[in-house]
Amino acid sequence: MGLTPLETLIRRARALLPEDGVITDHARLRTYECDGLAHYRVTPALVVIPETAEQLAAIVRCCAELQIPYVARGSGTGLSGGSLPHAEGVLVVTSRLRAIKEVRREDQRAVVEPGVINLDVTRAATPEGYYYAPDPSSQQVCSIGGNVAENSGGAHCLKYGFTTNHVLAAEFVAADGDRVRLGGDAPDSPGYDLLGAVVGSEGTLGIVTEVTVRLVRLPEKVVTLLVGFDSTDRAGAAVSAIIAAGIVPAAIEMMDALAIEAAEAAVHCNYPDGAGAVLVIELDGPAAEVDAEYADVVRFCEETGAFEIRTAKTAEERFLIWKGRKSAFAAVGRISPDYIVQDGVIPRTALPEVLRAIAELSERSGVRVANVFHAGDGNLHPLVLFDDAVPGAGDAAEEVSRGILDLCLQHGGSITGEHGVGADKAGHMPKMYAADDLDTMQLVRCAFDPDRISNPGKIFPTPRLCGERPGRRQGAHPLQQAGVAEVF
Ligand SMILES: Cc1cc2nc3c(=O)[nH]c(=O)nc-3n(C[C@H](O)[C@H](O)[C@H](O)COP(=O)(O)OP(=O)(O)OC[C@H]3O[C@@H](n4cnc5c(N)ncnc54)[C@H](O)[C@@H]3O)c2cc1C
Repeated sequence: MGLTPLETLIRRARALLPEDGVITDHARLRTYECDGLAHYRVTPALVVIPETAEQLAAIVRCCAELQIPYVARGSGTGLSGGSLPHAEGVLVVTSRLRAIKEVRREDQRAVVEPGVINLDVTRAATPEGYYYAPDPSSQQVCSIGGNVAENSGGAHCLKYGFTTNHVLAAEFVAADGDRVRLGGDAPDSPGYDLLGAVVGSEGTLGIVTEVTVRLVRLPEKVVTLLVGFDSTDRAGAAVSAIIAAGIVPAAIEMMDALAIEAAEAAVHCNYPDGAGAVLVIELDGPAAEVDAEYADVVRFCEETGAFEIRTAKTAEERFLIWKGRKSAFAAVGRISPDYIVQDGVIPRTALPEVLRAIAELSERSGVRVANVFHAGDGNLHPLVLFDDAVPGAGDAAEEVSRGILDLCLQHGGSITGEHGVGADKAGHMPKMYAADDLDTMQLVRCAFDPDRISNPGKIFPTPRLCGERPGRRQGAHPLQQAGVAEVF
């Protein structure tokens, strides 16, 4: 009897990769069954961990030939189920492609492999006087490949821009296994911006195997403030006053009382007692500019009702301020057994109204919501708390979570700010886009991947099932298996 396509792929993968780079053992496969959105789980049929871009391209070529779906995975910290495996497919893990190939001080660039950890780029560039600006809170563990795929943001993206503003070129393995270069050393190239299409494409167009990123000069001066307010309304008013005055801080982050409580319990960050909200504000740049802006920022905070303004005097104090903010997601585990990290974006001016509406939603439903977010650019991360052991609590939390996205849309925002659509929010896409828009996006996708084998089932809803949430099952949907519904 002949081999099945998967058996053929396993045999070829074993010939291409070192022994520990091909995982077929069920217990070990289960290690990869989810990303950071752990309530969706699918065991992949096969996991491969290539050591070179050539090996990765050869695996993708085999997948194309055998028509086997594959999913790229960086560090698996995604929060939208983007690297959720395919039950009949291959998970291509990039964690061994971790070389920082070059740090080019003279033209402010670094060339890195996709599995390189975000913070390691900054660590490599700092001795040269530079750093890598996009800084997701997961920056100690997430990969540059994952950042490119999600167009990740972070606290410092308010002033410096998202991942897309820092990627200058990429090497990319298309769905037929071809290796292509997108972008380059020239500031612009003629024709369509294919690099721009790949950034944020969530692994649905192919796999990035090398990235050239822009480095930013380390600032002459950095000032970090921790400001306590009695309410999110007052903190929001301070944000508006700062931005309206034309000041663009490196970061403005907001945490509400529940998020502060969680961070305090976990990392003892010593935030102001009794605060209804805190702002973490960071100013950076030439010393004279920072000093002038600092005086204005303090004044705006006082005018809008800040009851405590602390300025970090040492690197340790600055570290502790940021530690509270950056550990907030994980810290919420201290005050709730389970939680959903939501990700939506709204115009900054709508912040007070939307925060009030979230509070009302929380009160009506009895589901607690902690808010910790990039206030400067309107990027919300409500943490919806629940206890899965309580019957119905998970469903109630999901309803509140969906309600928050609806609020974002009602206020002219979007269903994702930086975590991507993945498997989690595919069903929400029709709320933002008409069928024609989604079809047009599919045309772009099909130009790269006509057989739709690269990360299938992500971003796009299935036409007849688009109202439902995908992912809590293995393999094809029962309606699909019965031939009733079709996956486009
Ligand atoms: C505690 C915590 C805090 C976070 N904070 C932030 C934040 O502040 N800002 C933010 O934007 N995100 C944040 N995230 C989400 C997540 O860390 C980012 O989306 C990150 O970019 C994912 O990187 P990863 O390497 O873990 O990717 P994965 O989770 O492995 O994959 C994410 C997506 O990228 C695709 N992918 C991975 N590698 C490649 C590649 N080489 N080529 C093509 N596609 C690829 C995958 O298929 C998947 O669709 C946070 C997550 C956690 C757990």
